[in-house]
Parts: sequence; structure tokens; C-alpha cells
Amino acid sequence: MKKRGILFVISSPSGGGKTTICQEILEELSELAYSISVTSRRPRPGERDGRDYFFVSEEEFDKKIERDEFAEWAQVHGHRYGTPRQFLEETLNYGRDIILDIDVQGALKIKERYKEACLIFLLPPSFEVLASRLKRRRTDDKTEVELRLRRAREELAFLKHYHHAVVNRDLSQTVEEIKSIITAEKTS
Ligand code: 5GP
Repeated sequence: MKKRGILFVISSPSGGGKTTICQEILEELSELAYSISVTSRRPRPGERDGRDYFFVSEEEFDKKIERDEFAEWAQVHGHRYGTPRQFLEETLNYGRDIILDIDVQGALKIKERYKEACLIFLLPPSFEVLASRLKRRRTDDKTEVELRLRRAREELAFLKHYHHAVVNRDLSQTVEEIKSIITAEKTS
């Protein structure tokens, strides 16, 4: 019988560099699948439907909740995000490992529902670095940046529920560390 895939959850405060890191990992470990989330927030410039997220209206999001289409969903920074359940379960059953880039609330729900999930928390080197990364991004306005910084402090309280913590000082070093965690999990 085929071995079930492993679920890797990566969370970090917004601006922690998670998207770039996930992209690098997915390029290097081509056998890993990425779960594209559904969100009711508007696309940012450069984001594409079906690649970065599945962008839906609030009404469509409600319907998906009613139809139990999410493995988890959460409200983050005033918007809703959810992990499509069917893709997740089919991929795992097929024996393929999968990466979820989701927030701390979602990670805890996944841990509860999929006991074997491996949770990785990506930390910025400091709050100063996080603040400057968020400001540099310029895709969010000032109040949005402040909201995300406040939330980052709250999110740190969830660190204890994660299996691994990785400090993102240097992109390639962080990618290597996460790749080693994934490899170790797969061989254990
Ligand atoms: P952003 O709006 O910056 O793309 O994402 C905001 C936050 O939502 C990030 O922390 C991201 O990890 C989280 N997020 C993205 N997709 C999901 C999801 O499907 N579920 C949950 N719980 N969080 C998500």
C-alpha cells in the first residue's frame, strides 16, 4: 500500500519571508505539492487567481464553509482564508507530501485534524527587521502594517505548538534548514 503523504505547515508573521521561502523549497523539492488557499481578500498587484490564491467573494466563501470544503479556515488581518480539503486529502492519499502556508490559527486546526502534520514556525531575526520588511513591501498601507506588526507579537504566543522553529536570517540558509526538516521527517 502507498504510504500517505506528510503535511508540512509553515507559518510566520506576515513579512517573515514565507512566500519566497516556500517558492524556493518547492522548486528544489519538486515532489512536494503546494496547497493554494482560497481567500476573500482582493488580489494585490501581481497576484494571480489560481496561482497565488483562489480569490472569491464573501458569499462564495460562506458557501464553501457550508459545503464543508475547507480542511481549516480562519480570519486573518480582517480577511478570510481557507485550505481546500479535497485537494489536501487527495494529495495525501496519493502519497504526495504537501506544504501549507497558513497562519497560526489554521495551523492549530490542522494539527488537531491531521495528527501527523509537521508544524514549522518561521521567525524573523527581530521585530525591527520584520517592520522594515513590511514597510519595504509597500503593498499594504500604514495602518495595515501596524496591524500586521501587532498581530506578529500575538502570533509568537503560538510558537509552543509548533514542532520546529527556524529563524530567517539568510534566505538560502533558511531554505536549507527547512529542507533538512522535511528530509528528516520523511525518513523517520
Ligand atoms: P497574505 O494576505 O499576506 O497573503 O496572507 C496573510 C496570512 O494569511 C498569512 O499569514 C498566510 O499564511 C495566511 N493564510 C494564507 N492562506 C491561508 C489559509 O488557507 N488558511 C489560514 N488559516 N491562513 C492562511
